[in-house]
Amino acid sequence: MGSWYPDGLRFTCTMCGNCCTGQPGHIWVSPEEEQEIARHLSLSLEKFRKRYTRLVGDMSSLLEKPNLDCIFLTDDRRCAIHSVKPRQCLTFPFWGRYTESKEKWEQASIGCPGIGTGELHTADEVDALADPETSRERLWDLMKKKPPE
Ligand code: SF4
Ligand code: SF4
Repeated sequence: MGSWYPDGLRFTCTMCGNCCTGQPGHIWVSPEEEQEIARHLSLSLEKFRKRYTRLVGDMSSLLEKPNLDCIFLTDDRRCAIHSVKPRQCLTFPFWGRYTESKEKWEQASIGCPGIGTGELHTADEVDALADPETSRERLWDLMKKKPPE
């Protein structure tokens, strides 16, 4: 990766909420993330799974509301579980399928007004965001965001 963006990529979230709604999709949550979100909501793992997730094959995905908003998108278009949101959400839009080419990155910008503007993320930072080995703490850093206290 990195070959088409040697000078990095620009992105700053405008908090529009578009990526938390729209087309039906999957918001994958790992067992560790389920534990963390359940703890954050003061729910047992079992209750959290029953109330907020569905199984897709052997993987767990957050539920969507009937209007296709994520179950955790609030009325003012914020994430109700921001500090413990799944890795998939935390690293958006630096997903391999968007950063693999200039065309894909530009296509993704149609739905995400933060792409191509704001903070510069170096090529190394962009690559680290797509690396499953990168720690969650580092991901917050790389996204130039901080989880709320
Ligand atoms: S679509 Fe982009 S700008 Fe809008 S909330 Fe999602 S990441 Fe932020
Ligand atoms: S968990 Fe939060 S960031 Fe992720 S899709 Fe739902 S509302 Fe959006």
